[in-house]
Amino acid sequence: MRSQTLPALMKSLQRALADFPRAHLTHAPTPLEKMARLPLALSLSAAGAGAEAAQACAMYVKRDDCTGLALGGNKARQLEFHLGEALARNCDRVFSTAAVQSNHLRTLAAAAAAFGLECHLQLEPWVNNHSEPYHHCGNVLLNRLFGAALHHYPADQDEAGAEQALADLAAAHAARGGKPYIIPLRRMGTPLGALGYVAAALELAQQIEQQRLPIELLAVASGSGITHAGLLSGLRWLGITIPVLGVCVRRDAAQQRRQVLQHCQNLADLLGWQHENAVAADDVWVDDSALAPGYGAASAQVKQDMLLVARSEGLLSDPVYSGKTFSCVLNLIRNGGADRFRHIAILHTGGIPGLFAHREERLADLPRSG
Ligand SMILES: *Cc1c(COP(=O)(O)O)cnc(C)c1O
Repeated sequence: MRSQTLPALMKSLQRALADFPRAHLTHAPTPLEKMARLPLALSLSAAGAGAEAAQACAMYVKRDDCTGLALGGNKARQLEFHLGEALARNCDRVFSTAAVQSNHLRTLAAAAAAFGLECHLQLEPWVNNHSEPYHHCGNVLLNRLFGAALHHYPADQDEAGAEQALADLAAAHAARGGKPYIIPLRRMGTPLGALGYVAAALELAQQIEQQRLPIELLAVASGSGITHAGLLSGLRWLGITIPVLGVCVRRDAAQQRRQVLQHCQNLADLLGWQHENAVAADDVWVDDSALAPGYGAASAQVKQDMLLVARSEGLLSDPVYSGKTFSCVLNLIRNGGADRFRHIAILHTGGIPGLFAHREERLADLPRSG
């Protein structure tokens, strides 16, 4: 489709990204590391053909849990472009709304502190969890440490209502002379945050080249779908055809596929890409097999796989996002669905502070040793 070489395509993608104001928030490049012991650990815990498939795999992890700002995660990359726009517009305060234990809100609180912006966070009860740690520890504790003002929206599953309440709050600040900047989390508007993952695609492409890794599958958590859409679009634009598996953590596969595709189209418009360069509908691959019992809650299998990863690699994951991503990939291997893929990379999106919003018994029926 494209006649240019990879280095030439990379240069022109870098130039395209340079058109957008950007606040420096991340420690990039994040490492791309081999998970040396996970395949064997998986094969020992699996049966029959699944065990054989696991042993034949090489697995890698792109450490976006190590993006640096306030304990890391994917939101730092996304917020570089939102904060860049806020600063370019001379805004003096930022507003956003999401789940109580949102990593997005915590990262925004840190970024706002780093740039001297006032920060207003609206917390919504997406998860039916009334425990003390859920409402006061983990990300909520960090929000307070960063000095963010916390507001509460009472209803779950009321996206329009929550966005309106946030807009009203910002308008009240504007009426008193403030200069608010609103970061919408899920509205299907301009996907500025996805630019952070177009940049990450560039970074990953460079690492795959330099390390000469024959990656055949790349998996990533797909929540709002912004990370998934940015990564997929960036890779395809560079002519890299590795299948990208989006692991559903918020909604079912059919809805998620539509949402990611829409983000890809909006992103192509934002970057002024020709339609031939945009992502095709059948290239948006999503899997919701690790979603149950729903957003913010993990199945017994997911918890078990979090332990497997922790105990074979010394690597933390969380029950809402990264644990589900690992589990979905491990399941694919166990069930023989990854036979075509011998070299598998997982993008670790972070979420570790959320671990501390749970008591031990909610995370896992922790066996004492493996
Ligand atoms: C927000 C988040 C995701 C999902 O990213 P989207 O861009 O919303 O799809 C995945 N992992 C973690 C840890 C997150 O905080």
